Amino acid sequence: MIIQRVVLNSRPGKNGVPVAENFRLEQSTIPDTVQEGQVRVRTLYLSVDPYMRCRMNEDTGSDYLLPWQLSEVADGGGVGVVEESKHNNFAKGDFVTSFNWPWQTVAILDGSWLQKVAPQLVDGRLSYFLGAAGLTGLTALLGVREKGHVAAGANQTMVVSGAAGACGSLAGQIGRLEGCSRVVGIAGTDEKCSILVSEMGFDAAINYKKGNVAQQLRELCPGGVDVYFDNVGGDISDTVISQMNQNSHIILCGQISQYNKDVPYPPPLPPDTEKIQKEKNITRERFLVLNYMDKQEASVLQLCQWIQEGKLKVRETVVEGLANIGAAFQSMMNGGNIGKQIVAVSK
Ligand code: NAP
Repeated sequence: MIIQRVVLNSRPGKNGVPVAENFRLEQSTIPDTVQEGQVRVRTLYLSVDPYMRCRMNEDTGSDYLLPWQLSEVADGGGVGVVEESKHNNFAKGDFVTSFNWPWQTVAILDGSWLQKVAPQLVDGRLSYFLGAAGLTGLTALLGVREKGHVAAGANQTMVVSGAAGACGSLAGQIGRLEGCSRVVGIAGTDEKCSILVSEMGFDAAINYKKGNVAQQLRELCPGGVDVYFDNVGGDISDTVISQMNQNSHIILCGQISQYNKDVPYPPPLPPDTEKIQKEKNITRERFLVLNYMDKQEASVLQLCQWIQEGKLKVRETVVEGLANIGAAFQSMMNGGNIGKQIVAVSK
């Protein structure tokens, strides 16, 4: 069977900025027959995520991420529909997901890689299983619950960086649902800031590309910062940390501002910021959602319930066509997305 797939065309270099041309669309073939234990799936949606920047390097710098190989098909989160199954758990027409979905239109996969998903949990919006009801939502929820020390009634102020992105937009809302009394976002455009406040229930948002972030933060968080959901690292995080309270908590979700640099993860804080962190006894423990997969099932149900009740607002930026996945990745890394960046492969 003839299929389309996207392979890694070139590496950006450890300190380079990734571009769409780092990926290449090509025609390929898959066997016509499905073997015992295998499932043939048609790809509906693919996810593009910041961690993929590390997979573009020869050495990902992390023990749980394998590098993509040149001229070989890329992979990541995906959702699709079963076309043929020789695996007991799956039947034709089932909707399934995997963290290792190949970037191709149709694929034959080992059934053990796949998880079934129930469309009714997300009112048929299957792409949500890659975002708000998938790894992104889990990251936001479990990050807040495992590392945020949020307590209802404690009058805590939460700040979220990368706030209009996939994780950040959910994390701020979840911080509020879990009990924070004030939630302030930091994002890269006025439009994003406006959506955070008008749609997502943030109390305020700061455009970090305009004006003085430190001064705005002081005005918007007069009682200091108790919980910081950090997606970006770098200067923004140094500024937030300088305004954090004694015994407060950083949720170390990601450090996207450092991903095009050859530095270890998590990057060490500059000495002045580290001094503040130590003196104020601010926790900054590494957080990796994959370490909490025993909580996946219950957490996905919680997320779906909030989505259905309208308590968790979801935004997606959807790009059509497998051919455009490289451009979607480039755009997301440059702030082109609001909410989760999705590529729709087939209807
Ligand atoms: P995302 O936030 O939807 O997309 C990336 C966003 O980051 C961009 O839209 C851009 O928005 C912002 N950004 C890019 N470069 C920046 C810079 N130099 N400074 C500040 N902001 C910058 O992606 P996501 O999937 O939600 O991921 C967010 C973070 O969570 C990433 O660091 C990712 O690695 C991490 N993550 C961690 C885990 C975990 O288990 N710990 C799991 C999933 C994701 P602006 O317009 O605001 O700049």
